[in-house]
Amino acid sequence: MMRVQRIGARLILAVGLVAGLGLAAVMLAYGARQEASILRQNELAMRRVTLSTVEGLTAIMLRGYAEVAHGFVARLNTVDGVIDFRILRPDGREAFIDNQTVDAVNRQLNEDRFPRHPLVRVAPLAVAADDPALAQLRTTGQAAFSYIVQEDGSRSVRLLEPIPNVRACRECHRAQDPLRGIVLLQSSLSAVGADVRRTWAIALSLALAGILGIGLMVWLIADHTVVKPLARLTDALAAARRGRLDIRVGAAGSKEIDAMAASFNRMAGHLQLLYANLSDERGALSTIIRSSGDGIVLANASGVIVSANAAALTLLGRSEPEVLGQQLATLIGNPDWMRHRLSGKGGSTEIDHRDRRLLVDAWEMGNDKGERRGAAITLRDVTEVRRLHAELAAMAATDALTGLFNRRHFDASLSEHHALWRRYRIPLSLLLLDVDHFKQFNDLHGHECGDRVLRAIGAALRQLDDPTAIACRYGGEEMAVILPGRESKAAMALAETIRTMIEKLAVDNLRVTVSIGVASCPPLEPGDLLTVVRQADAALYNAKERGRNRVEPAIANAERPSATT
Ligand code: GH3
Ligand code: MG
Ligand code: MG
Repeated sequence: MMRVQRIGARLILAVGLVAGLGLAAVMLAYGARQEASILRQNELAMRRVTLSTVEGLTAIMLRGYAEVAHGFVARLNTVDGVIDFRILRPDGREAFIDNQTVDAVNRQLNEDRFPRHPLVRVAPLAVAADDPALAQLRTTGQAAFSYIVQEDGSRSVRLLEPIPNVRACRECHRAQDPLRGIVLLQSSLSAVGADVRRTWAIALSLALAGILGIGLMVWLIADHTVVKPLARLTDALAAARRGRLDIRVGAAGSKEIDAMAASFNRMAGHLQLLYANLSDERGALSTIIRSSGDGIVLANASGVIVSANAAALTLLGRSEPEVLGQQLATLIGNPDWMRHRLSGKGGSTEIDHRDRRLLVDAWEMGNDKGERRGAAITLRDVTEVRRLHAELAAMAATDALTGLFNRRHFDASLSEHHALWRRYRIPLSLLLLDVDHFKQFNDLHGHECGDRVLRAIGAALRQLDDPTAIACRYGGEEMAVILPGRESKAAMALAETIRTMIEKLAVDNLRVTVSIGVASCPPLEPGDLLTVVRQADAALYNAKERGRNRVEPAIANAERPSATT
């Protein structure tokens, strides 16, 4: 506000100064011209007096009344404003003081008509011989003015008016003298000075009124077109700085300020829209963050936590005051991992926290210029998901009827352990079991009875006291047991254990027996997976052939004559 007002004051000052100087110059010229005119009028008036004096004096002198001339001059000296009025001889001495004129006139008349003065004195010099005005008058024969400053400081003007030596005068005066005399009239300039002062006073008053008028006009124009519009603009800018973006500035009628106001209005409108959009986005974002089922924790550029949603607090088991202000990197899990992720491209990890499995995603947040603006982590409770995954994976690998691993799992496990045997020579044995005369259970006691037998065998195999044994349903009423790390002897022993265990089962009071073929590496050196299975199958065939309810080891290169029944 102060600044705008100063602009107005400066404008008025500048324009006032220029206008004032201009007016002062005009008024000075006017005053000087008026003064010159007044002095010129005064000079003309003085000359009228001196010229009429010359005429009157000539007439008097031609009649030979020198005494009258003296009296005439003395009377003129009493006129108001006249300081000095004298008739001088051409040499500058005052006339009619000595008896020179009386004597000359009486001589001319040849009689003593005019008495001589009783007190005769030498006529004084009224004008110095070297007076420039006198010299000018002598040279030009024209009247000469001199302006004199008296000792008391007052000014006066002195006129030297030549009295020409006309023909009539030459009866008494010498013909060769161009001058017969000089009229000296010195008058005070006090009356003229008053006129001049009045003129100056008028000029100054006019100048002052002009300056005031121009100042007022400039102030009105500046106030209307510059000061007030700028004040409105700066007020609107200050309001915008405080967040009030709805204020608009109206047109002021001045092109530049209107352009500024229009720019401001556009900018404020743009900012208002941007702010509204940002506010909407922020509202939407904070709603998402607040209501998200995932925990979201935000940190500033220094890694200090500034926000944590309700889900995060629940998962962390902490209150908001406990979390806010803490370093994000040390909030949960491994701080080194977190610092690494938060300062790079981010990443995910799973951690166990308070009996829960949490999936933690961490990343750095930057702006368009790639500057780090903060960091964030999201926390997701994946306990249930992981449990379901495990359940699903188990289901995918399990045979529903027997509860043993299914054929798919058998194939994958055997392939895996066969590879270990081939690469690291880790021993591997495979047991193939086939229920003896199983068909009869179905045929004599029904299919459900057959299923019960299979379930009972499955349960028995699952309870084997061997944590490394992988018991699978190979297909139909055939089972397989993979024994990683077991050589032939141990495998044969376990097979025997299984055989006797099943023999003791009484399903629906029926006796169940199995025949088992055992293939082991070593001693066998099967080149591929299929060969292991074939050799175990051949051994199983042997067990069937030799009376069933038996365990038979595989013999190298032995092949069963036809497919297992
Ligand atoms: P062997 O002693 O020679 O093995 O005689 P076996 O009767 O067991 O021989 P076979 O292979 O001919 O019989 C297998 C039968 O098992 C045929 C089939 O109907 C039956 N079976 C296969 N899968 C199932 C099943 O899941 N449930 C039931 N109840 N029967 C099945
Ligand atoms: Mg069978
Ligand atoms: Mg069979």
